[in-house]
Amino acid sequence: MNLKTILEEGWPHHKKNLPESIRPYWNYMAEIHEADNLMFVGDRIIVPLEQRNYVLSKIHESHLGMEKCKSRAKQSLYWPNMFADIEMICSQCSICNKFKRQNQKETLIQHEIPARPWEKVGIDNFEYKSRNYVLVVDYYSKFVEIRLLQGTNAQSVVNNLKAIFSVHGIPEEIVSDNMPFNSHFFKTFTKEYNIKLSTSSPTHSQSNGMAERSIQTVK
Ligand SMILES: [Zn+2]
Repeated sequence: MNLKTILEEGWPHHKKNLPESIRPYWNYMAEIHEADNLMFVGDRIIVPLEQRNYVLSKIHESHLGMEKCKSRAKQSLYWPNMFADIEMICSQCSICNKFKRQNQKETLIQHEIPARPWEKVGIDNFEYKSRNYVLVVDYYSKFVEIRLLQGTNAQSVVNNLKAIFSVHGIPEEIVSDNMPFNSHFFKTFTKEYNIKLSTSSPTHSQSNGMAERSIQTVK
């Protein structure tokens, strides 16, 4: 029995009637929901067990140090004992410990050119054979992620972006130039995640060329 089944069939009256693996979710019962085939606690995505080690390695990849790793992860991700797992991996890492101070200073410096993968991404919507997709391209590696959307609303786009970011990490900057990326809902999402949103104006649409070129390639 997994969390999805419990959600469909209803929660038991007592925590002890839950399987051991589901008990940590008991206190979040009211906030757990499903959308776009993903599980959420509030607006944080629940990382499936088999992906946790990989996601943990992504959280730690930039060696931001324990506190920054935790604060970035808690904006978007959830799994039982997530903080303990992050503390474990960072406390055992000599780079995180050694560069703790420098990292705190470095966050104040703005980089024009991304220094690492998944720091700056371009996003765009497109339609192909009557289906709607969202495309995310990483400026550093040119790596492209595409998700089929259930609807064209900002909520569906945001849910899919959360899934992509849960795997690759949360970018610091998103470049986009069309709806629904201008919507209030989308802006609230980027604000909550502490992502800088660069919306190019119609007269300067070439500034999101990275995402648009990728769409042509994909099609
Ligand atoms: Zn580290």
